[in-house]
Amino acid sequence: MTFTLHGQAVSRGVAIGRAVLAAASRVDVAHYFIAPQQVADELGRLRRARDTVVEEIERLRQGLAHDGVEAHAELAALLEVHLMLLQDEHLQDGVKQWVLERHYNAEWALTAQLEVVARQFDEMEDPYLRERRADLEQVVERLLRALRGESSPLAAAAPAAGAGGEPLVLVAHDLSPADMLHFKHGVFAGFVTDVGGRTSHTAIVARSLEIPAVVGVRNASQLIQQDDLVIVDGDAGVVIVDPSPMMLAEYGYKQRQGEVEREKLTRIKNTPAVTLDGQRIELLANIELPEDTLPALAVGAVGVGLFRTEFLFMGRGGKLPDEEEQYDAYRRAVEGMHGLPVTIRTVDVGADKPLEAHRRDDHLNPALGLRAIRWSLAEPAMFLTQLRAILRAAAHGKVNVLIPMVAHLSEVRQVHALLAKAREQLDRRGAVYGPVRVGAMIEVPAAALAVRLFLRHFDFISIGTNDLIQYALAIDRVDESVAHLYDPLHPAVLRLVADTIAAAQEAGKPVSVCGEMAGDVTLTRLLLGLGLRSFSMHPTQILPVKQQVLRSDTRKLRAWAQQVVASDEPALLLAD
Ligand code: PEP
Ligand code: MG
Repeated sequence: MTFTLHGQAVSRGVAIGRAVLAAASRVDVAHYFIAPQQVADELGRLRRARDTVVEEIERLRQGLAHDGVEAHAELAALLEVHLMLLQDEHLQDGVKQWVLERHYNAEWALTAQLEVVARQFDEMEDPYLRERRADLEQVVERLLRALRGESSPLAAAAPAAGAGGEPLVLVAHDLSPADMLHFKHGVFAGFVTDVGGRTSHTAIVARSLEIPAVVGVRNASQLIQQDDLVIVDGDAGVVIVDPSPMMLAEYGYKQRQGEVEREKLTRIKNTPAVTLDGQRIELLANIELPEDTLPALAVGAVGVGLFRTEFLFMGRGGKLPDEEEQYDAYRRAVEGMHGLPVTIRTVDVGADKPLEAHRRDDHLNPALGLRAIRWSLAEPAMFLTQLRAILRAAAHGKVNVLIPMVAHLSEVRQVHALLAKAREQLDRRGAVYGPVRVGAMIEVPAAALAVRLFLRHFDFISIGTNDLIQYALAIDRVDESVAHLYDPLHPAVLRLVADTIAAAQEAGKPVSVCGEMAGDVTLTRLLLGLGLRSFSMHPTQILPVKQQVLRSDTRKLRAWAQQVVASDEPALLLAD
């Protein structure tokens, strides 16, 4: 039966494919397709993993028997249940089917079937049986561990389509930004999550992957079944489950139209971003990893305006990258841009980008907690390591350092002192390093209101509108229940942005916007009218924004932009 779910449109385009449900805790298992001739080997891996786990449990049971049955009766009963689950035909047959018919690798097949069986447990009337779900999860965990001990040689890059040639759509309760990175070269053509907002980092990574995504769909992961056919409309924020043939035809058409539009835009790739009145506009790329410089250059970015270095720190069990590893990553990004400037933002962990050792739910208000520069200053040894790596990378090209979330003059002083210390340490080692310009992100309302103070201490500023909006409007950017209140066109937000741009211009210091507003084509004219000449965004947005730039005359936009900012309802004026 067809039904439609609504959420936040976060990454444009249409994906049509089969749903793959993944439990949040298990999205990090390997997802890849095996070749038809490898099916037998993969089933063999599963069999051996099961035998290993059965042996493990048998050994535990025997140990208990030696210890005296009385004391361990409950535990023995539990192990008995685990053994039964391991032999459960429904689990075994289902896993086998995923491998045979869909050509999923063993780990993926196991977690796909876990979702199917776990739901059936959830629906059981009997509370005792319902609780067996936890046992099932433990059994699957043991099997995954056994499979890990026997790694598959087949984990190669795979096309975004199942064995039947159908694309796949990942449906999960939540995906962390690190999970998303995991899928960078993965198999999914679309994403749907229950939670999240438009500027959550998960959404930002989805956009950078150019994969249609809808987040904040509340109970999508409950309502959608494994293998359901779904349409993800990343423009409208709609997910259609089990669509009719007519809907499929309509969305198939829309999908092809989108491809044609994107194709057309590539014609302006080499056209300089100059407005009708001759203003040169700098269009920069936001990147997460050094290899993202390739797509950035492919769309004609004239530099990197934001390298979110925290992605080098995530998804590694809390172990921090050392100086050499960071230096190597930053140098690769700098060299990848072939002489164009690269703005490296110091690590911004915390809030919705937790390190494993620094989880989001540890604190009541993680977005207001030890995040970004606050964390860096609380861990000076870690921060110095990063600063040294950045300074060394600056010997290979033009590098700017960008400090996230500054709000206090004391932070500014400490940053400059630590930079001086990092240089001293490099001098003592005789290491080669280069000059850097140092900039501040203006993303806390206090910093926007006192921006003149910060302009005195920094070479440039970059407006982080994602956080600026979050903090100005008191809206958690990852909370779907308040997502409708997250408004870049709120008069207070516009005033903060407009005043910050004006103050930087008065001070003669470069200013750019690197939040999602910079890549939103509906806001390009407004930002141009406010005097902005530098925009940093996902590579995917550069050409659509350039198209707007080429059609704009900033002389005509100036007075109108001021009217929009002064208006009670800016959105109405913008729509005209
Ligand atoms: C911002 O806050 O606008 C920004 C660019 O930084 P991030 O999205 O990484 O917090
Ligand atoms: Mg930010």
